[in-house]
Amino acid sequence: MAEGVYDPGNIFAKILRGEIPSHRVYEDDAIVAFMDVMPQGTGHTLVVPKAPSRNILDADPAIFKPLFAIVQKVAVAVKKAFDADGVTIVQFNEPASGQTVFHLHVHVIPRFDGVPLKPHSGQMEKPEVLAENAGKIRAALGS
Ligand code: AMP
Repeated sequence: MAEGVYDPGNIFAKILRGEIPSHRVYEDDAIVAFMDVMPQGTGHTLVVPKAPSRNILDADPAIFKPLFAIVQKVAVAVKKAFDADGVTIVQFNEPASGQTVFHLHVHVIPRFDGVPLKPHSGQMEKPEVLAENAGKIRAALGS
């Protein structure tokens, strides 16, 4: 795959097509949110537009309004679900920035006073923990 070209075989495209499982917390016509399998903190969630783009550099700007509306909803929900002190929002573009999955996504990470972030793409979380955390976020979202 040439550099800078969207690859429909990327792992988030597979999740969006339902070809591989995810712990979904939110879905509408344009956006899906699911648990990060290697969370940098409890409740680390990814908000992903369905429309294909590698990252912010090639995205249709029309997606940012619905995308960030859901980023905000999920941020409020994770703060409530885990009684967090704050929420970190991160988004990477191309390998030089740390991007590892080349379908646009925004990280929403609950933060707790004095607790540092775990490494990016570090350790896999147990599926039962992800399922439980997803349930808490869905409850906070009211869905
Ligand atoms: P980025 O470096 O911004 O591209 O981040 C990609 C994120 O996707 C990392 O935080 C990974 O832990 C996460 N990730 C990788 N594979 C999966 C998967 N199958 N389901 C959920 N999250 C994933």
